[in-house]
This record gives sequence, C-alpha cells and structure tokens, in this order.
Amino acid sequence: MTRLRTAFLCGTLLAGGWTFAQTASPAPSNAQLASPEIERKVNALLARMTLQEKIGQLVQYSATEAHPDKSVGPGTAALNVNPPGPGGVDSYELAQKGELGSMLNTVGQGLTNHFQHAAVDNTRLHIPLLFGADVIHGFRTIFPVPLGTASSWDPEMITELAHMAAVEARTAGVNWVYSPMVDIARDARWGRCTEGAGEDPYLGSAIARAYIHGYQGASLSDPSSVAASVKHFAAYGAAEAGREYNTTDMSDLLLRQVYLQPYHAAVEAGSATIMSAFNSLNGVPASANPYLLQTILRDEWGFDGPVVSDYTAVMELTHHGIALDAASATEKAFTAGVDIDMNAHFYDVELPALISSGKVPMSVVDEAVRRVLRVKFALGLFDHPFTEGPEVTKAVPEHRALARRAAEESFVLLQNQPVNGQPLLPLAAQARKLALIGPLADDSKDMVGAWSGANNFDDVRTLRETLTQRASEHGNSILYAKGTDITGTSTSGFAEAVSAAQSADLVVMALGESSDMSGEAGSRAYLDLPGNQQQLLEAVQATGKPIVLLIFSGRPLVLDWAAAHVPAIMEVWFPGMETGPAIADVLYGVTAPSGKLTMSFPRAVGQEPLYYNQLPTGRPVQKFDPAHPNAYVETKYVSKYLDVPNDALFPFGHGLTYTTFRYADISISHDTLSADALEADRKSQPIIATAKVTNTGSREGTEVVQCYINVRGASTEQPVRTLKGFARVTLKPGETRTVRFPLGFEELSFYNVKSQQVVESDTEYTVYIGGSSTAELATHFRVTR
Ligand code: BGC
Repeated sequence: MTRLRTAFLCGTLLAGGWTFAQTASPAPSNAQLASPEIERKVNALLARMTLQEKIGQLVQYSATEAHPDKSVGPGTAALNVNPPGPGGVDSYELAQKGELGSMLNTVGQGLTNHFQHAAVDNTRLHIPLLFGADVIHGFRTIFPVPLGTASSWDPEMITELAHMAAVEARTAGVNWVYSPMVDIARDARWGRCTEGAGEDPYLGSAIARAYIHGYQGASLSDPSSVAASVKHFAAYGAAEAGREYNTTDMSDLLLRQVYLQPYHAAVEAGSATIMSAFNSLNGVPASANPYLLQTILRDEWGFDGPVVSDYTAVMELTHHGIALDAASATEKAFTAGVDIDMNAHFYDVELPALISSGKVPMSVVDEAVRRVLRVKFALGLFDHPFTEGPEVTKAVPEHRALARRAAEESFVLLQNQPVNGQPLLPLAAQARKLALIGPLADDSKDMVGAWSGANNFDDVRTLRETLTQRASEHGNSILYAKGTDITGTSTSGFAEAVSAAQSADLVVMALGESSDMSGEAGSRAYLDLPGNQQQLLEAVQATGKPIVLLIFSGRPLVLDWAAAHVPAIMEVWFPGMETGPAIADVLYGVTAPSGKLTMSFPRAVGQEPLYYNQLPTGRPVQKFDPAHPNAYVETKYVSKYLDVPNDALFPFGHGLTYTTFRYADISISHDTLSADALEADRKSQPIIATAKVTNTGSREGTEVVQCYINVRGASTEQPVRTLKGFARVTLKPGETRTVRFPLGFEELSFYNVKSQQVVESDTEYTVYIGGSSTAELATHFRVTR
C-alpha cells in the first residue's frame, strides 16, 4: 500500500502535536490520458479506421445469451442487475468484426479473455475491448456500502479500499469501474443515497478524489489500476420527492455551489471517464444536455476522457419526450456530448445515416473515438490486452482486514445512554447473558447491501455466527430469535423473541432494511423500520431489558420512537463481509466507534429533503434569549412545522464514541482580510482557524474534528453553515491537540448570480469548530475591500 500513501495527497498530516486538516489536493487533471505519446498513437490509429470501426468504439454491450460459454470462468451473474439488453445483438460477433468498443458487467478472466481474443486476434486493427463493471464497494471482498465508508470521514482509507477493489477486479479482466457515485443526496427517500457520500459537497469532493486515486493509482498503465467513471453527471441525487429517475430542477447557483462540486473534484483528480445521468436537469435530460456535457464538462473543466451514457439512457430520451425516435435520440445525445451508448443499441444503428446526412459531423465522431482510444492506450491494453495470472474468485483473506476496519470506522454511535449509571456501550463482559434478536442478525445476503459486486454470500460473516463463536470461546452461549422477517407482517416469531429477551441480561437487536430497499430503484415514501419490526422492537422493549439497537440501512431512517425508548442505537449501514467481527469488536469495546453521519437523520419523513447546509429564511426560529427577557420573539409566523421541530433527530456530523471530547480556545489568524488578496492567489490559504480538542474521558478515542463557516453580507444567500475542513484525531485520555484549519479562496468563495465563483468585500464570516454540524464554539473575521 506504499504507492497509495504517496499517491494520496489530501490525507491528514500529523506533526508536532498539530493536526493539519484536509485541504484540496493538487489537481493532476487528466494527465494520465493526455500525453503527446498517446495522442500520436490515437491519431495514427484513427486515420486507419473505417466508419463502422469508429462507430464500434462508441457502443457497449453485455455478454449476449448467444455466448454464455460456461467453460470460460466465473461469470457475471452477481453483477447483472440491469434489465435485459436489446434483443438481436450478438456482442461476440460484433467483437469479431472489430465493431465493439466495450462491454458491460462482463467479468471473469475466462469470459473477458474469450471476448478479448475475438476483438484482438483476427480483426483488422486489433483494438482491445474495455470491460466496464459496477465495482461499487468491493469486487470479491465486499466492504461497507459507500454511505457507510463515507461515514468514516477517512479518505485515506477509502483510497486503500478502492485500490483493493481494483486489484481484485483487474485479475478478473475488469479494467474500468463505474464508480465513484458522487451524487449529492439530501433526500433520504432516494435509495441511491446508499451509493454516495451523503449530503455535503466538501466531504463529497474529498471522498471523490480518494476513490479516483485508489482506482487509478499513479498510472493507469499499472496492472493493478482500473479506469474510473465518476457518475451520474449531473444532479441525479436531487430527484424530486426522492423518487428514482425523477426530474431535477435547480438554480445554476445551487448546481455549481453544491451538486457539481464532487464531480469536478473527481475530474480534477483525473477520472478517466464520466457517466451521464438518467434524470433531466432544468428540463433537459442529462444525457442530451449540452450545458452539462459541453459547456461545463469540456469548456470549463477541460475534461478529455469519454462520457458513457447510463444504461439505455440514450433510448430513454424518447420517454423523456425530447426525441421522436431512435435517430433523433442518437443525434441529441451524441451531439450533446455522450460518446458511448451503453446498451441502447441506438448508436450502431443510427449513426451511419446521421453522419451521411450531415446531421452528425464526422469531426464529432472522430473526437469521440479519440477519447475512447486514449483510455485504452493509457491502460496499456494494446500491449497487454489479456488478463493473466491467478484470478481472485472469492474474498481475499488479507483484504478482509481492511474490509473489517472499514466496517468498524463506518459505524455511527447515535446514542449511548446510561443504564445503571454507565453508558450501555461498550458491553462490559462476555459473561453477560445476551439475546440477539432481529431479521438482520443472521442474514448474509442483506448484510452486504446493494451492488454487492461479484461476491459469494458464503464469504459473509454474520453477526449471529460471530457472537455465538465468541460466546462459546468464553464457555457461554447466546439466545437467538429472528422475531420477524425484514418486511414481515406475521407476529408468530414475537413470543420466542420476547422470551429470549426475558431470559437475558441484555438484548442486541439487529433491525433495518433489506439490501434491495436502497440502491437503484430503491425509493421509499416511508422511512420507518420496514414490516412489523417496529412492533417487534416495542414488544422486546416492554420486557424492560436494556437494548442495543443496531440499524442496518442504506439511508437515514426515522428513529424517533427508538431514540426515546432505547438507550443505545448504532447505525451500521450494510457493513459487508466482515459484518459479524466488526460489530462484535465494537460492541465489546475491542475497538471504539468513530463514524460521523454524512446525512441528516430526520424526525419525520415530512422534513425531507433535510440537510444541515440549508439557506437561511427571513423568518428564522429564534431562541429565547435570557439576557433580553423582554425582547419580542415571534413564535407562530416563522419558518417551522406545526408538528415537528425543524432540526434533525441526529444531525450531519454527529457520532459518539466511548470517550468524550471538549473543545476550547478557538482562534483565527486574521480579523480582516482583503477580497483582492484572496482573489489574487486562489491557491493560498492565508487564514488559519484553530481550536483545542481534549479527550475528557478515560479511554483513547478518535474524533472527527469539523470546521464550518457561515458568511453574511454576500450578494447571494449563503448556507447557515457549511463544512470547510475536517480531521480525524486520535487522543489518549487527557490529551489535548490543537487542530488547525487553513482557509483560502477555495473555502471562502461562493457563487454569485452570474455563476461566478467569488469572494466579496464587506462580508462577515463566522467559523465554527467542533464535533458535529451543531458545533457552537465560534470565531469571526471580515473580508474587506
Ligand atoms: C446504473 C448505473 C450503472 C449502470 C451499469 C445503471 O442502471 O444507474 O449506476 O453503472 O446501470 O450497470
């Protein structure tokens, strides 16, 4: 992993008692694609290609039923979540004719080499195939869903995880991954929030960079690197009402200040490719949107890799109603900037006539082909088209350690109230009689979450398995009762669960969603525990036994009843293959939880979309100020609900551990700073905010120290607060550390109504440092002329 450590530039540096927080990494741009050497080869090859061969580079298909060669190695079954592709396409035959550019979710050394031989051996130009696959949170060794790993606030670890996935996938012929998904998700109803980093653009950008560095390494030509495809461009996560594939509509200001940030970070970090989204944005489908794909992506960001459509998104332009037929859908998508048609079967059929009629200029075709070829050259596929060496076909023992650490770092301890004078967690001793109850306790399939890669569910260690084994090592046993199914309606298992609880000293309940309730097409209108799990929880709680509630989910759930009635609640997301050992270690305090929420947990679903970095209103809810007891405080005509508070039940950035921290002595290096100076050197970070954090408990602990800013007086409304730095800090009991957050143009700027990124004079900044988005320790400075 040494390569990773040097390649990863935005980690936390510890030096002499100071912690330097995350800063933006230098942008390598698409340096890996744009070398003069590659350009020379691309142009030489392009000059020899026929029109059919060129168009072939722009189409992608899965392995067709016509060639399910069972003898060629582990296949695609676990990856194939897409609906069946177009009929009548024989991808093997296309490859043999040199008219296929890439394949989708076709994995396994035997299978990929089989197709690669078809593309390379007897074709005129021997152009190798790209094999693109949904490697989302591991390939064979599955680690937590991305929303879980994001909760670690540990980009360096995410780089290691991505690299590990790349290493495994590459042995199975995969050289291109459809990851990271960086769509900002502010609405927990949208199931795909499980695939991203949550609601914040600053954290989302740091994590986007981390994935790109991990997948692509220092060089795409390294045999353990894969090309990344940041997705889904753009604003897919803003689907109205959280309903999958739904329309998005937003101001350019919101688009640029929030939604575009992580894609841009990924592009700057060198993402080789980008995937266009299903949704429409401001009335124009993202997969036929020249403003996104040309103005922003090419003209402003200088992206020179290919854009691949999402699955059949070119065909879907007819459903969006902006294309009358396959020809106009192709013309609109292609001329807007979608280079590769994923499985719609439109480009290969329609482009020839569109080109000969002049509707699609040949120069646009050539440029699209260049972009695809650049990636193939950069990956070294012309020299090494086939995959050799041992293939990883199941979870790798050495990789499990990292998957386990990732799971442990992903858990967010939401609440840990005292029982008999002591916080319930960590559990004191193995000797206590423990009841394990709930449908997620022993369910290997649902512990891995959506997009579980090419894994084998037998490799998953369940919670029941681990707790049983650990108890037996201590000459003990646990009581287990499933209680109900995840979406069950029958109460027939309740009695056994209640009786197990009655016979125990303590109950661990494993409740939540199934894998497929989040991820693609996983939108929900209710965010409660599914089925009759809430009833089961209430029945067990009525026994009076202390409960540790573990929530498995791909999104924030509404946990208001549990928060009021259950002492300890830990969100474990979908932890992956090391579910059992990771949870057991955290429950018993072998390791302490250190995750922090990256999405706000609502009190009621009607608060959605709910996010911490909201804009102010003209009628805020004001707090009664005891210093001015006679001041009039409006209580009705303010921006609030009549039936639920505005704030989150568990806010962004929140997460407890087994010790406590105190924040003090916030300070800022400047009282004023000139806007001109910030503008003049956009890369420098002249303002330093610091605060002291002390471990006030009795055991070592890790805290994610967070820095937020608010700016007032700007020409556009700015969020009540917004994250601008973070640092994971591990402190011994009693230890104090000064944490330092450098701030410059990047952190202090915002967008004006002309879509310009600016700092403005006569503005006042407040800086907050603390352990969540509700941090109160604050300091101020002004930006002057
Ligand atoms: C998803 C993408 C995925 C693609 C290929 C689509 O349905 O939206 O995220 O990469 O399928 O499997």
